[in-house]
Amino acid sequence: MPHRAPMILAALLASMAAPVLAAAPAAQSPYAALASTEARVAAIGFRLTTANAAWCPVRQPQFGWIWGDPRLYTADRRAEALAVYGAADQLHPFIAALAPHSPAASAGMKVGTPVTTIADATVPDGAGDHPFARITAIEGSMAARPVDTAIALDVGAGHIVSVTPVAGCVSDFRVEANEKAGAVADGRMVLVNQGLADFAADDEELAAAIAHELAHNILRHRARLDAAGVDRGLGKQFGRNARLFKQTEVEADRLSVWLLAGAGYDPAAAARFWSRFGQRKGRPLFQASTHPNWRDRVASLEAEASAVAAARAAGQPLHPPLVDAPPPLE
Ligand SMILES: [Zn+2]
Repeated sequence: MPHRAPMILAALLASMAAPVLAAAPAAQSPYAALASTEARVAAIGFRLTTANAAWCPVRQPQFGWIWGDPRLYTADRRAEALAVYGAADQLHPFIAALAPHSPAASAGMKVGTPVTTIADATVPDGAGDHPFARITAIEGSMAARPVDTAIALDVGAGHIVSVTPVAGCVSDFRVEANEKAGAVADGRMVLVNQGLADFAADDEELAAAIAHELAHNILRHRARLDAAGVDRGLGKQFGRNARLFKQTEVEADRLSVWLLAGAGYDPAAAARFWSRFGQRKGRPLFQASTHPNWRDRVASLEAEASAVAAARAAGQPLHPPLVDAPPPLE
Protein backbone atom coordinates (compact mmCIF):
# COMPACT_ATOMS: atom_id res chain seq x y z
CA MET A 1 0.00 0.00 0.00
CA PRO A 2 2.61 2.65 0.90
CA HIS A 3 4.45 2.28 -2.39
CA ARG A 4 1.39 3.59 -4.20
CA ALA A 5 1.22 6.78 -2.20
CA PRO A 6 3.07 9.06 -4.62
CA MET A 7 0.84 8.08 -7.53
CA ILE A 8 -2.29 8.52 -5.48
CA LEU A 9 -0.99 11.82 -4.16
CA ALA A 10 -0.33 13.08 -7.64
CA ALA A 11 -3.76 12.00 -8.85
CA LEU A 12 -5.56 13.52 -5.89
CA LEU A 13 -3.68 16.77 -6.12
CA ALA A 14 -4.24 16.99 -9.86
CA SER A 15 -7.97 16.63 -9.28
CA MET A 16 -7.95 19.24 -6.53
CA ALA A 17 -5.61 21.76 -8.09
CA ALA A 18 -7.18 25.11 -8.84
CA PRO A 19 -5.80 27.11 -11.78
CA VAL A 20 -4.61 29.89 -9.49
CA LEU A 21 -3.17 27.54 -6.88
CA ALA A 22 0.29 29.04 -7.02
CA ALA A 23 -1.14 32.37 -5.87
CA ALA A 24 -3.40 30.91 -3.17
CA PRO A 25 -2.38 31.23 0.47
CA ALA A 26 -0.95 28.11 2.04
CA ALA A 27 -4.14 27.52 4.05
CA GLN A 28 -6.02 26.76 0.81
CA SER A 29 -3.47 24.33 -0.52
CA PRO A 30 -4.56 20.68 -0.70
CA TYR A 31 -1.45 20.00 1.38
CA ALA A 32 -3.04 21.98 4.21
CA ALA A 33 -5.81 19.37 4.50
CA LEU A 34 -3.19 16.63 4.64
CA ALA A 35 -1.19 18.48 7.28
CA SER A 36 -4.24 19.02 9.46
CA THR A 37 -5.17 15.32 9.19
CA GLU A 38 -1.60 14.41 10.12
CA ALA A 39 -1.97 16.56 13.24
CA ARG A 40 -5.20 14.75 14.20
CA VAL A 41 -3.67 11.32 13.58
CA ALA A 42 -0.48 12.17 15.49
CA ALA A 43 -2.52 13.25 18.52
CA ILE A 44 -4.84 10.24 18.44
CA GLY A 45 -2.06 7.74 17.72
CA PHE A 46 0.11 9.05 20.54
CA ARG A 47 -2.79 8.95 22.99
CA LEU A 48 -3.89 5.42 22.03
CA THR A 49 -0.38 3.91 22.05
CA THR A 50 0.86 5.51 25.27
CA ALA A 51 -2.27 5.38 27.44
CA ASN A 52 -2.60 1.66 26.65
CA ALA A 53 1.10 0.78 26.89
CA ALA A 54 0.64 -1.42 29.96
CA TRP A 55 -1.64 -3.75 27.97
CA CYS A 56 0.73 -4.15 25.04
CA PRO A 57 2.96 -7.24 25.00
CA VAL A 58 5.48 -5.48 22.72
CA ARG A 59 6.36 -1.81 23.17
CA GLN A 60 8.37 0.84 21.40
CA PRO A 61 9.42 4.39 22.23
CA GLN A 62 6.76 6.92 21.30
CA PHE A 63 7.78 10.51 20.59
CA GLY A 64 4.45 11.91 19.40
CA TRP A 65 5.55 12.87 15.90
CA ILE A 66 4.78 12.09 12.30
CA TRP A 67 7.68 12.59 9.92
CA GLY A 68 7.69 14.49 6.65
CA ASP A 69 10.21 14.48 3.83
CA PRO A 70 10.80 16.87 0.90
CA ARG A 71 11.26 13.72 -1.22
CA LEU A 72 7.53 13.00 -0.95
CA TYR A 73 6.73 15.83 -3.35
CA THR A 74 7.49 16.29 -7.00
CA ALA A 75 9.89 19.14 -7.70
CA ASP A 76 7.16 21.41 -9.07
CA ARG A 77 5.00 21.10 -5.92
CA ARG A 78 7.71 20.85 -3.29
CA ALA A 79 7.89 24.52 -2.32
CA GLU A 80 4.11 24.74 -1.99
CA ALA A 81 3.96 21.61 0.20
CA LEU A 82 6.85 22.60 2.43
CA ALA A 83 5.37 26.07 2.94
CA VAL A 84 2.31 24.47 4.55
CA TYR A 85 4.56 22.92 7.19
CA GLY A 86 6.80 25.95 7.49
CA ALA A 87 9.70 23.70 6.47
CA ALA A 88 12.44 25.82 4.94
CA ASP A 89 15.00 23.03 4.46
CA GLN A 90 14.53 21.27 1.10
CA LEU A 91 16.97 18.45 1.83
CA HIS A 92 16.31 16.94 5.24
CA PRO A 93 13.36 15.11 6.73
CA PHE A 94 11.24 17.23 9.04
CA ILE A 95 8.51 17.03 11.65
CA ALA A 96 5.15 17.02 9.84
CA ALA A 97 2.91 16.73 12.90
CA LEU A 98 3.22 16.69 16.68
CA ALA A 99 0.89 15.37 19.33
CA PRO A 100 0.15 18.00 21.99
CA HIS A 101 2.13 17.46 25.23
CA SER A 102 4.16 14.69 23.58
CA PRO A 103 7.88 14.27 24.30
CA ALA A 104 8.83 15.87 20.97
CA ALA A 105 6.53 18.86 21.56
CA SER A 106 7.74 19.27 25.14
CA ALA A 107 11.34 19.23 23.92
CA GLY A 108 10.59 22.28 21.79
CA MET A 109 10.27 20.68 18.38
CA LYS A 110 7.81 22.34 16.01
CA VAL A 111 6.01 21.33 12.86
CA GLY A 112 8.47 22.04 10.06
CA THR A 113 11.57 21.48 12.23
CA PRO A 114 14.22 19.71 10.08
CA VAL A 115 16.35 16.89 11.47
CA THR A 116 19.86 16.61 10.05
CA THR A 117 21.45 14.06 12.40
CA ILE A 118 20.04 11.55 14.86
CA ALA A 119 22.17 10.47 17.84
CA ASP A 120 25.38 11.75 16.21
CA ALA A 121 24.74 9.74 13.04
CA THR A 122 23.54 10.97 9.70
CA VAL A 123 19.85 10.41 9.12
CA PRO A 124 19.40 6.96 7.59
CA ASP A 125 18.76 7.32 3.89
CA GLY A 126 16.54 4.28 3.38
CA ALA A 127 17.00 1.56 0.82
CA GLY A 128 15.81 2.15 -2.73
CA ASP A 129 14.34 5.25 -4.31
CA HIS A 130 10.87 4.99 -2.80
CA PRO A 131 9.82 8.46 -1.52
CA PHE A 132 8.90 7.05 1.89
CA ALA A 133 12.10 4.97 2.21
CA ARG A 134 13.93 7.50 4.36
CA ILE A 135 11.00 8.02 6.75
CA THR A 136 10.54 4.26 7.02
CA ALA A 137 14.24 3.84 7.87
CA ILE A 138 14.05 6.58 10.52
CA GLU A 139 10.96 5.07 12.11
CA GLY A 140 12.46 1.59 12.08
CA SER A 141 15.66 2.73 13.78
CA MET A 142 13.69 4.71 16.39
CA ALA A 143 11.34 1.80 17.11
CA ALA A 144 14.32 -0.46 17.83
CA ARG A 145 15.65 1.88 20.54
CA PRO A 146 15.00 1.46 24.28
CA VAL A 147 11.55 2.74 25.21
CA ASP A 148 12.69 5.46 27.63
CA THR A 149 16.16 6.60 26.58
CA ALA A 150 16.74 10.18 25.41
CA ILE A 151 17.87 10.74 21.86
CA ALA A 152 19.76 13.80 20.56
CA LEU A 153 18.55 15.32 17.31
CA ASP A 154 20.35 18.02 15.34
CA VAL A 155 17.56 20.30 14.18
CA GLY A 156 19.77 22.40 11.94
CA ALA A 157 22.95 24.46 12.25
CA GLY A 158 24.26 22.24 15.02
CA HIS A 159 21.36 23.03 17.35
CA ILE A 160 20.74 19.87 19.41
CA VAL A 161 17.40 18.90 20.91
CA SER A 162 17.20 15.99 23.34
CA VAL A 163 13.90 14.08 23.32
CA THR A 164 13.02 11.48 25.94
CA PRO A 165 10.29 9.20 24.59
CA VAL A 166 7.64 7.34 26.57
CA ALA A 167 6.78 3.67 26.24
CA GLY A 168 3.89 2.88 23.93
CA CYS A 169 2.32 0.07 21.97
CA VAL A 170 3.99 -0.76 18.65
CA SER A 171 3.03 1.44 15.70
CA ASP A 172 4.00 4.53 13.81
CA PHE A 173 1.36 6.53 11.96
CA ARG A 174 1.14 7.89 8.46
CA VAL A 175 -1.53 9.72 6.46
CA GLU A 176 -1.97 9.01 2.77
CA ALA A 177 -3.47 11.47 0.30
CA ASN A 178 -6.02 8.91 -0.82
CA GLU A 179 -9.66 9.93 -0.94
CA LYS A 180 -10.95 6.40 -0.36
CA ALA A 181 -12.24 5.86 3.19
CA GLY A 182 -9.68 3.23 4.14
CA ALA A 183 -6.80 2.41 6.46
CA VAL A 184 -4.20 -0.36 6.67
CA ALA A 185 -2.07 -1.91 9.40
CA ASP A 186 1.05 -3.77 8.28
CA GLY A 187 2.41 -4.77 11.68
CA ARG A 188 4.63 -1.68 12.12
CA MET A 189 2.57 1.10 10.58
CA VAL A 190 -0.95 2.37 10.72
CA LEU A 191 -1.73 4.09 7.42
CA VAL A 192 -4.80 6.32 7.47
CA ASN A 193 -6.28 7.64 4.24
CA GLN A 194 -7.32 11.27 4.05
CA GLY A 195 -10.73 9.99 2.93
CA LEU A 196 -11.18 8.00 6.14
CA ALA A 197 -10.38 11.01 8.32
CA ASP A 198 -12.83 13.09 6.29
CA PHE A 199 -15.52 10.40 6.70
CA ALA A 200 -15.17 10.25 10.51
CA ALA A 201 -17.73 12.53 12.15
CA ASP A 202 -15.26 13.69 14.81
CA ASP A 203 -12.01 12.76 16.55
CA GLU A 204 -13.76 10.09 18.66
CA GLU A 205 -14.84 8.26 15.51
CA LEU A 206 -11.44 8.70 13.89
CA ALA A 207 -9.90 7.30 17.08
CA ALA A 208 -12.20 4.27 16.76
CA ALA A 209 -10.99 3.59 13.22
CA ILE A 210 -7.34 4.05 14.24
CA ALA A 211 -7.81 1.85 17.32
CA HIS A 212 -9.04 -0.96 15.05
CA GLU A 213 -5.87 -0.75 12.93
CA LEU A 214 -3.67 -0.42 16.01
CA ALA A 215 -5.33 -3.54 17.42
CA HIS A 216 -4.26 -5.46 14.30
CA ASN A 217 -0.64 -4.47 15.02
CA ILE A 218 -0.84 -5.17 18.76
CA LEU A 219 -2.27 -8.63 18.05
CA ARG A 220 0.41 -9.19 15.35
CA HIS A 221 -2.25 -10.19 12.84
CA ARG A 222 -0.17 -9.67 9.70
CA ALA A 223 2.69 -11.86 10.96
CA ARG A 224 0.35 -14.46 12.38
CA LEU A 225 -1.69 -14.70 9.16
CA ASP A 226 1.57 -15.09 7.23
CA ALA A 227 2.76 -17.77 9.66
CA ALA A 228 -0.55 -19.58 9.17
CA GLY A 229 0.09 -19.57 5.41
CA VAL A 230 -2.92 -17.40 4.66
CA ASP A 231 -3.09 -16.01 1.12
CA ARG A 232 -3.36 -12.21 1.16
CA GLY A 233 -3.93 -12.09 -2.59
CA LEU A 234 -6.97 -13.17 -4.58
CA GLY A 235 -7.29 -16.33 -2.51
CA LYS A 236 -8.20 -14.36 0.59
CA GLN A 237 -11.86 -14.42 -0.37
CA PHE A 238 -12.20 -18.16 0.02
CA GLY A 239 -12.38 -20.94 2.56
CA ARG A 240 -9.86 -21.03 5.37
CA ASN A 241 -8.19 -17.80 4.23
CA ALA A 242 -11.44 -15.87 4.49
CA ARG A 243 -12.34 -17.47 7.81
CA LEU A 244 -9.00 -16.52 9.40
CA PHE A 245 -9.14 -12.98 7.99
CA LYS A 246 -12.60 -12.63 9.47
CA GLN A 247 -11.31 -13.88 12.82
CA THR A 248 -8.66 -11.14 12.85
CA GLU A 249 -11.29 -8.50 12.00
CA VAL A 250 -13.51 -9.62 14.88
CA GLU A 251 -10.51 -9.59 17.25
CA ALA A 252 -9.43 -6.10 16.13
CA ASP A 253 -12.96 -4.81 16.65
CA ARG A 254 -13.16 -6.27 20.15
CA LEU A 255 -9.79 -4.91 21.30
CA SER A 256 -10.41 -1.50 19.71
CA VAL A 257 -13.24 -0.74 22.13
CA TRP A 258 -10.92 -1.32 25.11
CA LEU A 259 -8.16 0.75 23.54
CA LEU A 260 -10.62 3.63 23.23
CA ALA A 261 -11.68 3.23 26.85
CA GLY A 262 -8.10 2.96 28.07
CA ALA A 263 -7.19 6.22 26.33
CA GLY A 264 -10.19 8.13 27.65
CA TYR A 265 -12.22 8.07 24.43
CA ASP A 266 -15.88 7.09 24.36
CA PRO A 267 -15.99 3.29 23.86
CA ALA A 268 -19.36 3.73 22.11
CA ALA A 269 -17.64 5.68 19.32
CA ALA A 270 -16.62 2.39 17.70
CA ALA A 271 -20.21 1.23 17.16
CA ARG A 272 -21.15 4.71 15.91
CA PHE A 273 -18.30 4.82 13.43
CA TRP A 274 -18.65 1.29 12.03
CA SER A 275 -22.42 1.61 11.76
CA ARG A 276 -22.04 4.66 9.54
CA PHE A 277 -19.10 3.08 7.73
CA GLY A 278 -21.08 -0.11 7.03
CA GLN A 279 -23.90 1.88 5.49
CA ARG A 280 -21.81 4.37 3.54
CA LYS A 281 -22.46 4.96 -0.13
CA GLY A 282 -20.23 3.16 -2.58
CA ARG A 283 -18.90 0.62 -0.10
CA PRO A 284 -17.16 -2.32 -1.68
CA LEU A 285 -19.08 -5.59 -1.63
CA PHE A 286 -16.04 -7.83 -2.14
CA GLN A 287 -15.21 -7.80 1.58
CA ALA A 288 -18.26 -9.95 2.31
CA SER A 289 -16.24 -13.08 3.03
CA THR A 290 -13.32 -11.53 4.92
CA HIS A 291 -15.23 -9.04 7.09
CA PRO A 292 -18.29 -9.64 9.29
CA ASN A 293 -21.58 -8.16 8.20
CA TRP A 294 -21.71 -4.57 9.49
CA ARG A 295 -24.74 -5.28 11.68
CA ASP A 296 -22.90 -8.15 13.38
CA ARG A 297 -19.87 -5.89 13.81
CA VAL A 298 -21.91 -3.17 15.45
CA ALA A 299 -23.65 -5.67 17.75
CA SER A 300 -20.29 -7.06 18.86
CA LEU A 301 -18.85 -3.54 19.36
CA GLU A 302 -21.86 -2.62 21.48
CA ALA A 303 -21.47 -5.80 23.54
CA GLU A 304 -17.81 -4.94 24.15
CA ALA A 305 -18.70 -1.37 25.19
CA SER A 306 -21.23 -2.88 27.62
CA ALA A 307 -18.49 -5.08 29.07
CA VAL A 308 -16.33 -1.98 29.61
CA ALA A 309 -19.24 -0.20 31.30
CA ALA A 310 -19.95 -3.22 33.52
CA ALA A 311 -16.32 -3.42 34.63
CA ARG A 312 -16.35 0.28 35.45
CA ALA A 313 -19.65 0.05 37.30
CA ALA A 314 -18.23 -2.81 39.38
CA GLY A 315 -15.13 -0.78 40.17
CA GLN A 316 -12.91 -3.35 38.46
CA PRO A 317 -9.72 -2.30 36.67
CA LEU A 318 -10.14 -2.51 32.90
CA HIS A 319 -8.39 -5.41 31.23
CA PRO A 320 -9.04 -6.10 27.56
CA PRO A 321 -9.61 -9.54 26.11
CA LEU A 322 -7.12 -11.13 23.67
CA VAL A 323 -3.95 -9.20 24.53
CA ASP A 324 -2.54 -11.84 26.89
CA ALA A 325 -3.32 -14.90 24.78
CA PRO A 326 -5.07 -14.37 21.46
CA PRO A 327 -6.69 -17.56 20.17
CA PRO A 328 -4.59 -19.36 17.54
CA LEU A 329 -5.20 -18.77 13.83
CA GLU A 330 -5.67 -22.27 12.50
ZN1 LIG B 1 -9.31 -4.63 10.02
